[in-house]
Amino acid sequence: MGNRQLAQRDQSVIWHPCTQMKDHECQAVTPIRCGQGVWLEDFDGKRYLDAISSWWVNLFGHANPYINAALRGQLERLEHVLLAGFTHEPAVNLAERLLELAPVGLSRCFYADNGSSAVEVALKMSFHYWRNGGQLQKTRFITLENSYHGETLGALAVGDVDLYKKTYAPLLMEVITAPSPDCYHREPGESWEAYSSRRFLELEHILAEHADEICAVIVEPLVQCAGSMRMYDPIYLSLLREACDRFGVHLIADEIAVGFGRTGTLFACEQAGITPDFLCLSKGLTGGYLPLSAVLTSDTIYRAFYADYTTQKAFLHSHSYTGNALACTAGLASLDLFGKEDVLNRNRELARLMGDAAAPFADHPHVAEVRQTGMILAIELVKDKLAREPYDWRERRGLAVYRHGLERGVLLRPLGDVVYFMPPYVITPEEIDLMAEVAFEGIELATT
Ligand SMILES: *Cc1c(COP(=O)(O)O)cnc(C)c1O
Repeated sequence: MGNRQLAQRDQSVIWHPCTQMKDHECQAVTPIRCGQGVWLEDFDGKRYLDAISSWWVNLFGHANPYINAALRGQLERLEHVLLAGFTHEPAVNLAERLLELAPVGLSRCFYADNGSSAVEVALKMSFHYWRNGGQLQKTRFITLENSYHGETLGALAVGDVDLYKKTYAPLLMEVITAPSPDCYHREPGESWEAYSSRRFLELEHILAEHADEICAVIVEPLVQCAGSMRMYDPIYLSLLREACDRFGVHLIADEIAVGFGRTGTLFACEQAGITPDFLCLSKGLTGGYLPLSAVLTSDTIYRAFYADYTTQKAFLHSHSYTGNALACTAGLASLDLFGKEDVLNRNRELARLMGDAAAPFADHPHVAEVRQTGMILAIELVKDKLAREPYDWRERRGLAVYRHGLERGVLLRPLGDVVYFMPPYVITPEEIDLMAEVAFEGIELATT
């Protein structure tokens, strides 16, 4: 079996995610036969450096020997059991470990099986908390401009990326959208901190006006990943935490993309020294192995649901694969690796190398900004550098970078015209250089 045959069979049966299938008339899907570390290998033996961690999930490389061994062991004992009325060791161990590592004050772990579901859980829990306390007027959510929280209808409603949301608008609950703290829009010479603080004032006004009807504010701490890797200062989170307390509104931190070391700390919230009321985790939670998510919350929230069955206060939400034993095992193995290898310190060095490798991009005539938060680095392409005028989206400049990357054996998958690096933590300095070199060539090609 070679690439061609598998791609052909694929084309007649599979409808791919986030894809205009007609695009595959010009460019076939890339069938992957195996993976090793940061490398993926296709059926013709060609290798691709996975510079985006397979949609931001992979932390310690593909086919990681330690995680593989843990999974093999668990496979012999138990693959799955329902989590209502039953439990298993990996679920308990992982909940204990997560709560130990998470910001202080989070003491309960509710499992689901993907990121969007975790967001749905947090939204429903927040709403239901207020309802259980007799606050029936609290029915709305505040979200940030340019945010992304997943694709299911509730998660889509609290997101703000038009590309994914606009079509389905008639189906979605109405939310209040606050201006984003995204520092791309700061004035020349203005610091990230000053800009993010300034933007916070607008959210504070909204809270002052609407707090009575608001359940929660939902944010992606520090980096709005699907929203073109836009970044902001931790000060925004500190101010937001204080305001949510002051106005009696929950804070939901969606760390599905930024959790587990991506921003330099294990959780992004740590950089602001805050504890959210709900912490949503997925993606890196299993090291990129299996679908799993968790919502961590406080004892205060938990107790509002704890009552006699007939009071009907229970949180009756579930997914079939909630807390899957194999997925929890992968999660535990991934957390082991953080402990074993001093990953966060090593990442600081890798992040520095990524920054160095990408620094020359800033001088490119079609690069408006190179920005970085920890192990996430983004390069924003524009038509006019000075005016920051974007390219017409129909020109699909980012797609040209993607195609060049594949040709050269680097999996880059720009978000529109934003090229970014978000590699597994096992990338080497030489591989960082290769990733940057190929990205640079791609950008040259795409902007001329
Ligand atoms: C990916 C993502 C989600 C959705 O997770 P899925 O597992 O794809 O449903 C939610 N929030 C953020 C911030 C994400 O990056």
